[in-house]
Amino acid sequence: MPKLEINLQKIQQNANTLKNLLAGRNFSLIAVNKVTHGNPKIAKALIKGGIEYIGESRVVNIKKMRDNGVEAQYVLIQVPNLEEIPLIVEYVDFSVNSELETIKLLAKEAKKQNKIHNIILMIEMGDLREGIDPSNLFSIVEEILSLKNIRLSGIGTNMKCFRGIVPSEKNMLQLSEYAKQIELKFNLNLKFVSGGNSANFKWFTSCKNLGGVNNLRIGEALFLGRETINFDPIPNLYTDVFNLSAEIVELKKKEIKYGEKVVSNAFGESVQDVPMKIKNGRDEVTKGEIRNQALLNIGRLDIAINGIIPCEDVQILGGSSDYCILDIKDNHFVIGQTLNFKLNYEALLKAMISPYIEKIYVV
Ligand SMILES: *Cc1c(COP(=O)(O)O)cnc(C)c1O
Repeated sequence: MPKLEINLQKIQQNANTLKNLLAGRNFSLIAVNKVTHGNPKIAKALIKGGIEYIGESRVVNIKKMRDNGVEAQYVLIQVPNLEEIPLIVEYVDFSVNSELETIKLLAKEAKKQNKIHNIILMIEMGDLREGIDPSNLFSIVEEILSLKNIRLSGIGTNMKCFRGIVPSEKNMLQLSEYAKQIELKFNLNLKFVSGGNSANFKWFTSCKNLGGVNNLRIGEALFLGRETINFDPIPNLYTDVFNLSAEIVELKKKEIKYGEKVVSNAFGESVQDVPMKIKNGRDEVTKGEIRNQALLNIGRLDIAINGIIPCEDVQILGGSSDYCILDIKDNHFVIGQTLNFKLNYEALLKAMISPYIEKIYVV
């Protein structure tokens, strides 16, 4: 079975380093662990690192962490679906919202459960994801404030997620302005003015005027140690928290056959570039040349094959459901040998939930 090594010590330290960095400019941090699917061991490492707020996109994962004794304040960062409202009110401290209808149902359920439910109102600022149209801001806030059992705890926006908008001084000051106007007009104090995700890191460290923004919700930077505009490593964060290893199950010389009809692969995708990929892997591959290939016991069933980065000097040609297909160049490998890989966010997301990848915790 392929193995994913998870270094809990490094997660704890990354959490601590990021939290302190943000605290230096009076920012709070919501540590977003949706990439781990609410893994309680990892959540406990975050808490040890000083994290108070955990962000998760699935309420069942919040329930799982609570049931496993992970004590934190939980922020649901996916807007609620109606079916799960009773669970959300029961298990979630703060939820992000963009639909008044949903917020009214949260209020009703909160009354039933004799609770106050806190919400962070999301504002659409160009990313085309969740968020209200800011031209309706005051009327929506007014309606929210009229609801019992609901507290407006903050506003937020999300950038560089779907449309790819980059957080900037200009758009972040705009968010600050919305917060300031709400606070003045309705005479209240917003706990969270939440500027965004790991893509806000460069803005946070390089912008002189952060305005009234006072919170970030960070996942990828925390776990992979990189910001997400250029994917540059962040100083003092570990970029090697996770290591994936898979085993060589076939090792053969294979000939690239030309002259046969080629359509698409098993997934219906174009394969015209496969010989090209092989050429890039080696200096010169000519017609009919034999090359060294390995199959690994990991495939698209388990992982996003384009999101794994080999540590050895080999080239990933692609994946089928069950195998990763590698050009191993002139390496001398043996059957049963394992090769190591780093992962990008999507690969980590899949690896964490694949039952076919063993998780090994390093403390
Ligand atoms: C996933 C998510 C985040 C965290 O994003 P990263 O890129 O992992 O830092 C923050 N906010 C919302 C609403 C999200 O869905």
